[in-house]
Amino acid sequence: MAALMMAAFFVLEALEERSAAAAANELRVASLTLTSSDHMEGTESTEGMSLQLPTADLELAIKTLQGNHDEALHSLRTDERARVLILLDDLAEKGHSAVHTQSAHTDLHRLLTKAASESAIDADEAEWRAALATVTAITALACAAWALVRDRSRAEKRSIASASEIALGQRLETLLNDLPDMVLVFADSGLITYRSRSTDQLLSGDATAEEFYDLVDESERPALLRHLGNEFDSGGTETFAVRRLDGTVVSLEVRVTDLSDDEFVSGHLVTARDVTAELGLRAELQRQASVDVLTGLPNRRALDPVLDAAHALVAAGDGGIGLLLIDFDGFKEVNDTLGHLIGDQMLREAAGRMKAALRADEPLLRLGGDEFAVVLAPVTDESILDCVASRLRDAMQAPFDIGEVSERIRTSLGGVVLRESTIADELLAKADIALYEAKARGGDQIVLFEPSMEHQAAVVVNTSRALRVADFDREFNLVFQPIVDTISGEPVGLEALLRWHSPTLGHVSPGDFIPIAEQARLMGRVGQWVLERVCRQVAVWEAQGLNEDITVSFNVSAQQLEDDNFVDSVFAAIESSGITPRRLVIEVTESMVVDHDGAIIERLERLRDGGLKISIDDFGSGYSNLGQLLSVPLDIIKIDRDLLLRLGSMREAAGGDPSGPCAIMEAIVSISRMLNAPVICEGVETDVQRMSLQNSGVTYLQGYLTGRPVPPDELSIDLGLQKPAEHVVSYA
Ligand code: C2E
Ligand code: MG
Ligand code: MG
Repeated sequence: MAALMMAAFFVLEALEERSAAAAANELRVASLTLTSSDHMEGTESTEGMSLQLPTADLELAIKTLQGNHDEALHSLRTDERARVLILLDDLAEKGHSAVHTQSAHTDLHRLLTKAASESAIDADEAEWRAALATVTAITALACAAWALVRDRSRAEKRSIASASEIALGQRLETLLNDLPDMVLVFADSGLITYRSRSTDQLLSGDATAEEFYDLVDESERPALLRHLGNEFDSGGTETFAVRRLDGTVVSLEVRVTDLSDDEFVSGHLVTARDVTAELGLRAELQRQASVDVLTGLPNRRALDPVLDAAHALVAAGDGGIGLLLIDFDGFKEVNDTLGHLIGDQMLREAAGRMKAALRADEPLLRLGGDEFAVVLAPVTDESILDCVASRLRDAMQAPFDIGEVSERIRTSLGGVVLRESTIADELLAKADIALYEAKARGGDQIVLFEPSMEHQAAVVVNTSRALRVADFDREFNLVFQPIVDTISGEPVGLEALLRWHSPTLGHVSPGDFIPIAEQARLMGRVGQWVLERVCRQVAVWEAQGLNEDITVSFNVSAQQLEDDNFVDSVFAAIESSGITPRRLVIEVTESMVVDHDGAIIERLERLRDGGLKISIDDFGSGYSNLGQLLSVPLDIIKIDRDLLLRLGSMREAAGGDPSGPCAIMEAIVSISRMLNAPVICEGVETDVQRMSLQNSGVTYLQGYLTGRPVPPDELSIDLGLQKPAEHVVSYA
């Protein structure tokens, strides 16, 4: 009814606005007609301005204006309105010969223009209001119609309900009895005044509230009491384990609603749903979600519950929680070279071996990929962690025989024990730092967390962050160190070495930032910058007439060498700078090429075919020997500074002549001759070292003795440059 009245109101409103709009429009036309230049154009006479005879339109306009003067002229002041009306009367009365003075004419024109423009605005506004009122009226009519239909259907339903009211009780009773859910009513007296048939499986004949209470597991009774008693949240649910009369235990989700004030119930309505199967399914799903499909071990999701359990174990005593992280070194290569199927089999077997090496109370989890974890609690002594870690490492020693493949897995382990306020994140972060340290120390070892490592971890984070945002052109530069002939001291080459001045960290040595850049997978970009800069510098030197025999070496990282596009990028840089390829020497370390797949060797061969030379850097620092290098395409062997120092101190200890020949150096030189690869010794600082190397047959030297690494314009050696730098294109 209300909707209908509203609709009617809006309909009337719409009509009113429509007629207001029509009136305003009419007035606008009338005003415009009167003020249009045709009709108001005056002719000059002795009396002043004479207005032309009004036409039929004009007469109509005058009438309209007179008839609606209040609305039409409402924008005019009262005296203006009166003036207009007098002038209009004059026009109407005097018919064909209305004569006006110049000022009266101007006055009428101005006033009517003003009234016309106001009427135009009025008409527009009224039109808009009319449209709005129409839409509202239609909506209100629709609502009214819907309300009428709904009321009618409700009335019909009501009449049906009243007709079957008596049958309803019985029907409800049948439905309740048919429900798998149990429905009980506990009267305030404690008696059960109603129970649906499904409840019979739980309770016998004249059961009381206490009987129901007795069926609930003892440990849960206080909660049930609270639930049934005053504390319960009416309508809320709780789940209890209930022993049925047949002895089986079920989980019931119990809802209690206080209906004491309801005249038909007068008690607590208790509905109970058997959720045993549902809870079982949920637990199974949860278990499955926390289990690693490949190994059957608990996965990363299970770590929190496992740590919670460990927490509970240490809460009372004075031990701590230990976390060991286990990661296989170079497992990516296993996957890449042997395929994921073999990789998966190795992981499965590794998991089995580790599990067998652990006790039942030392849970092993697979956190993902090749990373595993063991949680230990309570740990009273850090040596326990070390002991478990050793057991695990030992378990991994034997090679993995899968089909034709027999592969050893090197394992790095990082561990930590925390005693206070152990949160999972803190344990993980610290064990991770220890694991990182184990990897940084070369892998295949156990490292337990020490606070000083946190500083190192922060350095790593800061360095990789600064590198990631570094503007290479501003922050990087290259320095060059001469390589000279051992006997003559004549330069035969230069090694390009990278320098980084970070605006936030200051000078960072390549020995510090390159391993971090490598870990952060940034060496591809860094190496590309070095490659291009080296080529551009060589182009500058070549344009200056660089001595034909001088080579320029530069270092490449493992990450660059592993990239399929590396060789192409080298040739592209050579081509765009227009330099001679045989001028360049690429320095790779033995660990990059020994024991690696054929792809890396093939890349080195392509580079050699393109005219470049390959130099094995830091020889003697790693685990390989010359024999292993036989299969590597190489042109130069660079002996590591550490080896030079070690041999020097060994001879000193043995009381040998420090400048005399060194047997090991001689052996390296003789094998290098077989490989047709000259030897360069790095890090030569003293003349005694130089003499010894000369006596051992080492052909070339590089070191502070003959020149420190300096920017190109500070090199003091003779490179054969004839033209001054200004005459060639600068690369800076
Ligand atoms: P490296 O390639 O073996 O370079 C030789 C290192 O020994 C250089 O250290 C050089 O400055 C230093 N050195 C040379 N003569 C002496 C000496 O007489 N005494 C002592 N104590 N040191 C000497 P630097 O420049 O700090 O570079 C360290 C390492 O960083 C390099 O070892 C190389 O492995 C790496 N690196 C440098 N620049 C680059 C680069 O552009 N790319 C890549 N991937 N690695 C680079
Ligand atoms: Mg080098
Ligand atoms: Mg070196």
